[in-house]
Amino acid sequence: MALKETQDFQTMINPLLTAADLPSYKAIKPEHIEPAIDERLAANRTDLERLLAANTEPTWESLIESLEDLDDRLNKTWSPVNHLHAVLDSEALRAAYNACLPKLSAYHTERGQHEKLYRAYQHIADSPEYDRLDAAQCKVIDDALRDFKLSGIALPSEQRDRYKVIMQELTQLNAQFAQNVLDATQAWTKQVNDEAALAGLPDSARASARQTARQRGLEGWLLTLELPSYLPVLNYADDRELRREMYAAYSTRASDQGPTAGQWDNGPVMERILSLRHELAQLLDFNNYTEYSLATKMADTPHQVLDFLYDLAHRVRPQAQRELEELREFAYAQFSVDALEAWDIGYYSEKLRQHRYQLSQEELRPYFPVTRVLPGLFAVAERLFGIIIRPVEGVEVWHPDVRVYEMVDAQGDVRGRFYLDLYARPHKRGGAWMDGCLARRRIGDAIRTPAAYLVCNFTAPVGDDPALLTHSEVLTMFHEFGHGLHHLLTTVNYLPVAGIHGVEWDAVELPSQFLENWCWSREALDLLAGHYQTGEPLPEALYQRMRAAKHFQAGIFLVRQLEFSLFDFRLHREYDPERGGRVLEILDEVRQQVAVIIPPAWNRFPNAFTHIFSGGYAAGYYSYKWAEVLSADAFSAFEENGIFDAATGARFRKSVLEAGGSRPALASFVEFRGREPQIEPLLRLSGITA
Ligand code: ZN
Repeated sequence: MALKETQDFQTMINPLLTAADLPSYKAIKPEHIEPAIDERLAANRTDLERLLAANTEPTWESLIESLEDLDDRLNKTWSPVNHLHAVLDSEALRAAYNACLPKLSAYHTERGQHEKLYRAYQHIADSPEYDRLDAAQCKVIDDALRDFKLSGIALPSEQRDRYKVIMQELTQLNAQFAQNVLDATQAWTKQVNDEAALAGLPDSARASARQTARQRGLEGWLLTLELPSYLPVLNYADDRELRREMYAAYSTRASDQGPTAGQWDNGPVMERILSLRHELAQLLDFNNYTEYSLATKMADTPHQVLDFLYDLAHRVRPQAQRELEELREFAYAQFSVDALEAWDIGYYSEKLRQHRYQLSQEELRPYFPVTRVLPGLFAVAERLFGIIIRPVEGVEVWHPDVRVYEMVDAQGDVRGRFYLDLYARPHKRGGAWMDGCLARRRIGDAIRTPAAYLVCNFTAPVGDDPALLTHSEVLTMFHEFGHGLHHLLTTVNYLPVAGIHGVEWDAVELPSQFLENWCWSREALDLLAGHYQTGEPLPEALYQRMRAAKHFQAGIFLVRQLEFSLFDFRLHREYDPERGGRVLEILDEVRQQVAVIIPPAWNRFPNAFTHIFSGGYAAGYYSYKWAEVLSADAFSAFEENGIFDAATGARFRKSVLEAGGSRPALASFVEFRGREPQIEPLLRLSGITA
């Protein structure tokens, strides 16, 4: 009887409303989501009014710290939902998630337009207390005042209402965009019954395709549009028609073209998003969305960004043209191919790489078993930043593949924890990312340590062997781990500027791209590479070939990045209500200016460009290159002082990682490097020769 009562009591507790720091994933059901959000939002609204009523003379302690409580508890309810939507989507979960979006959007607008709250912040900014606050606290106040303006606090009430409606619709459209991409990606598969059709494909890709088929109760091999399946086909399959077919399916996802044409078409979604973003920017007195976007970034003006991108394009394009010409000549001379189509580029590039460097990505795989790479990555972090990473048992996760770790510093203090979800699977969004689960903050006399999600989409292990990664997957792992270090090693105790919070978006890729550099160093590779069967270290000859091939087609790669960046930026800068978004037109113009490879006219790459239509990179995709100036220049300090120089590592940790968003990113960089950033290391490390 007593037991029964306990059980009933427990089922009544909504797992999204508990005070526990880490979410109980197993207990979270779709039906918990909306009631939890309703309750949290209602409680936050009531508590905010109570707080303001009690605060006639607001201070940091009486107001800002209490507000942190409200934000933190809402985050604890929503963050696991948002995360599950990305990694374990289902129809019921998605419905509940979508139902919450307008409610959350309305709440955030209300907060951003709350006059009493705004005046309270202003009061603190104008009071003598402000001069006694530390720099991080001042930044919290300044950022908040800026964000009030960006939320329309200064607008007349009619326009404020319009702002709210725009934000709600945008939130919903951003989600719809990503959901369309996911659905279109899942919708297409190709069953292969004759192994001869897979000629050229590496064993790893065949085994994986076989496993995928078996998991779905099918005979033969199953190819999907998830990257671990798609890329090997494009790079290795001898069957040109198979490559064409998969390229066409992949590059027309969520569009009016290709095998699922019209079913999840993001075309109208993009138009609407662009139109609303433009209206939002103008409502707030900006000329266009790029100006709105830059209001919170390191770059000052749209001109500065465009100059930066076009200047890079000018330096890089001749090299990219040469590289493409070489590829054409090679394909013609060796294979009598006289017209290279979009689905041939990857394939003949691999052949050329093989021909020139006797190196294929596949050859490296056996040296990068995940069971070796992970401890190796942790060892690199230990040598660089003096932290130890160890597994934590007993933390609830959302999938059996997920592992949990903690970071411990030299004093033995746990600085943060992270979840690691490495493998591609159905109903999981593609790509790789780091996201905050909890941010560091002071609660009373104690410090609540942060937590993060590190998510990748690598090929899952096949049979009993560990997952064998390509070198580029190892780079991805280092990249996301770099973000993780930034979020977890922070020593800032104020939630809005702790870890990656409050960091300008165009500087946020600094620690991530920075850490990738270690994947090329012999010393680091000795820590993270070893044959999965024999344990043999990466042979020197193979390493030398890998180094030699590092900049293979570097120009082609870079102009592609510039194409994406310029497309995104010009799209948001040139929006014209009369003419509409002109998505394909602007893409064409940009390609004429900077690209060397022009895809077929039916390619609908923008329709799956989630970074800018549902992620945070709108009018901000240039951030990758912008931050790479910083990351390459920061890395060059290690080239000068030693790749594992402890003093330089400690300085980077203190100046950049620990400082988080507590000050402008440029200030952190200058403290570390002793001067302003220079572009030369980026060009050199990217293999761009003058
Ligand atoms: Zn990143």
